[in-house]
Amino acid sequence: METEWKEISHPIDRNVPKMPFLPEPEFRVIEDASLRATEIRIVTHVGTHLEAPIHLFDDGASIDEYPLDRWITDGVVATVDAEPLQELTLEDLNMPQEPEKGEALLVRTGWEDRISDDSYFEQPYLSEDVANWIADRELSWIGVDSPSPEMPNSIRERDPFPFPVHSTLLENDVLIAEHLTNLSSIAGKAVEVIALPLPYVDSDAAHARIAARPK
Ligand SMILES: [Zn+2]
Repeated sequence: METEWKEISHPIDRNVPKMPFLPEPEFRVIEDASLRATEIRIVTHVGTHLEAPIHLFDDGASIDEYPLDRWITDGVVATVDAEPLQELTLEDLNMPQEPEKGEALLVRTGWEDRISDDSYFEQPYLSEDVANWIADRELSWIGVDSPSPEMPNSIRERDPFPFPVHSTLLENDVLIAEHLTNLSSIAGKAVEVIALPLPYVDSDAAHARIAARPK
């Protein structure tokens, strides 16, 4: 029997998770029409989104350049009950099996339960060794249930901050999904995953509907 697809992207409204420095999304129903039409203003990094290399590298690929095959794949949901500001090593990530080349790695830390709390921005983050391990495995993309796989702002000592995790992943063509949710429902499972970023041309990121189901 096939199991159900799980929605792992956030609904998009005023309460959508976002970094504090980004503007709130705006929604406006255009009234003077006999049909209803909604105008939306939203930064590409607000809410569940996928990031492409051009986010960090001027000559990197943009999100619209990737073929659909990149986004429909097998994956693994690693799970860890993380503490705020915890650096996650490979040993911390409980996985049913290691993801293979071309697959996705989702990291469930429990942060999806904190989106209305300030501690959402004290996210656990991937160690540089984990980022290198992911790059070496040539994964398609990784996703986290938090604002970022990167060390939180409050404990960054290097200025300018070099974004080591983003840099290692995007330089090696591993894309990054941020603000995933509902990963607890598939924690520790091998999954099929569909992630469909909207084809914003030349964009550094795109909002995406993402769903997964256990295999
Ligand atoms: Zn982003």
